[in-house]
This record gives sequence, C-alpha cells and structure tokens, in this order.
Amino acid sequence: MSYRAEYIWIDGTEPLPYIRSKTKIVPDGEEPPIWGFDGSSTNQAPGENSDCVLNPVFVTPDPIRGGDDKLVLCEVLLPGTMEPHPTNTRRATVEVAERFADQEPWFGMEQEYTFFKENRPLGWPVEGYPAPQGPYYCGVGAIEIAGREIVELHTEACMEAGLNISGTNAEVMLGQWEFQIGPCGPVEIGDQIWMARYLLFRIAEEFGVDASVAAKPIKGDWNGAGMHTNFSTNKMRESYDAIIAACEALGAPGKPEEHIAGYGIGTEDRLTGLHETAHYSEFRYGVSDRGASIRIPWQVAQEKKGYIEDRRPNANADPYVVARLITDTVCSALA
Ligand code: ADP
Ligand code: MN
Ligand code: MN
Ligand code: MN
Repeated sequence: MSYRAEYIWIDGTEPLPYIRSKTKIVPDGEEPPIWGFDGSSTNQAPGENSDCVLNPVFVTPDPIRGGDDKLVLCEVLLPGTMEPHPTNTRRATVEVAERFADQEPWFGMEQEYTFFKENRPLGWPVEGYPAPQGPYYCGVGAIEIAGREIVELHTEACMEAGLNISGTNAEVMLGQWEFQIGPCGPVEIGDQIWMARYLLFRIAEEFGVDASVAAKPIKGDWNGAGMHTNFSTNKMRESYDAIIAACEALGAPGKPEEHIAGYGIGTEDRLTGLHETAHYSEFRYGVSDRGASIRIPWQVAQEKKGYIEDRRPNANADPYVVARLITDTVCSALA
C-alpha cells in the first residue's frame, strides 16, 4: 500500500512569493524522497532549463487527508550542484541558528490575516463599510465575527499536524484574525509558520475564501495586519540587562533600516504611527507600548526577565528572514 505526501514549497514570485504544492504517492514504509518541479511555472527557472529540486525539510501528518498521509515542507535546490536556489531563504537561517545555538534563541510569531470573499473582507456589507472598529477584537456574536468556522478548523489542523500553535484571536478589523506559533527555534518557527499558512489557505479554499496576508488590506481607519515577533535568548530569559541590550542592538545605527527591508512589503502603508504601530522611520522601545517598534511586555518589566516583541514585521513577511535578522542582530550583541 501507499500514502499521499503533499509536497509544499515557496515559489519565486515577486514581490511576494506564493505557496505551491503537489501530491506524490509514496510506498508505505518509505520516507518522502527528494523530488522536483517545473521552475519555469513558478518564477524559479527559465523554460530551457526548468528543473528545480524539492528537498524535504519538515514532515508532519496531513490533518486534511488524515490516515497515513503526510505534509512535506521542502526547500528548493538547484539541480546538479544541489546548492540552495536563490529563493531559498531557509538555508541562511540554518547557518545563523547554528552559529548562535548556545544562546538558545526562541521565537513566537503572531500571524495576522484577513479573510476575503467576493473581493471584500468576510462579513463586510456589499456596499460601504461595517460599523467602525471597536467591538471586533476578541469579539463574540454574528455582528462582531466572521469566519470563525474556518479558524476553528485551522486550529484543529495545526494541532493535529503537531505544530506549536499557542493561541488564536479575532482581530481589530472585522474579518481579520490571528494565530500564534511558538516558542520555537529560528528555523523551526519558519517551518511551522509556512506550514500553518499552507493549512490556512488550504482550509479557507474549501469555503471559497481567500486568507490574505496583505499588510494593509483596507486603506483608511482600519488596522493593518502584522506578524509580531516575540523573541528571547537564554540570557534574556534570566536578566533585564539582556532585555535592554537586545532592544539597543535592534536600534543600533543601520539596524532599523536593515530589519524593515526584510520584514515584508507594505511597510509604508502599515507602519504609519497610527493603529498600534510606530512610524517606519523611527525606532523606539518601551514597556507595554503598542505604539513602539519593540514592546517589552509588562510582566517582563515586572519580573525583570523574559522576552521582547518586535511589532514591525508585516503579515506577509518571510518568517525565515525575520528570524535570521533578529537572531543575528541580537545574538551578535549578546555574545
Ligand atoms: P500579544 O499580547 O502581543 O497579543 P500573543 O499572546 O498573541 O501576544 O503572543 C505571544 C507569543 O509570544 C506567543 O506565540 C508565545 O509563544 C510567545 N512567547 C512567550 N514567551 C516567549 C519567550 N520567552 N520567547 C519567545 N517567545 C515567547
Ligand atoms: Mn497577539
Ligand atoms: Mn494581533
Ligand atoms: Mn502582539
């Protein structure tokens, strides 16, 4: 007998990649092997030399098909040399994670997203706007909430796949939601966020709904969507000096620009200084401050140890890149 392995990878579409997947039938008892695809159809290769390699890096049970079927997240390699493809952002994160493994970096990412159906956010009226923001964040009831059945199925799927999903909540804009993954190491957080995104898109598809990770899906007085990134090292989990040193490292000359450039697209629209953000041109950290670039949670200030929250990454950021930048910047300073 055989099982189905759904091979999942990140393509080369600019400015934002799409997730792709296809199915391989694998004999029982065999691990999902290295496989390939047509890179000329995914912005990853020219037509005359189109083959790209899929190298399995993270395998879980497939909660959608069930049984012995599997989900197989892959990194993309070049044929022949088996070197990482230019779109493979995971490999550089592996190197940084290995370099700073002794500092035991942990990440928790809060993935916000917005459901869309028929070109408008789920739950929005055909014309005009819903009532202004206020009752939707963590709301209950048919006027405040849209899409909960999809969220519940997604949460169950993440749990069945063995992901470290740590919570979910309805967000400030109607039709907008969040799930959190973590704590995980720098490479694991990337693997798990990409896998959780795949499951979200795949499950919403059954409802004819698109889960968008646009940073500012609706212009105007509506919250954008981010991927707040919570971070700690073993020193930060023990001392407040290390917490402050981490914040200072992220604000060192050149660092804010370098980080923002790797935090996804739509920064100018989302990081306006309004709607619980700091303006993208300024860097500021503070306790409990949701208008800062970096927030120190109040419990952390009280207990004098813990973690910090980088509020700048956009919902569409590549978690491998975000984890690499933060690990590199903070762990270099704390070494
Ligand atoms: P918020 O109050 O900003 O909405 P959430 O509860 O949504 O925060 O998310 C907090 C995230 O921080 C969770 O994913 C959690 O796993 C993660 N987290 C908790 N402790 C740590 C830590 N020491 N290091 C890194 N991440 C952590
Ligand atoms: Mn949150
Ligand atoms: Mn949120
Ligand atoms: Mn947050």
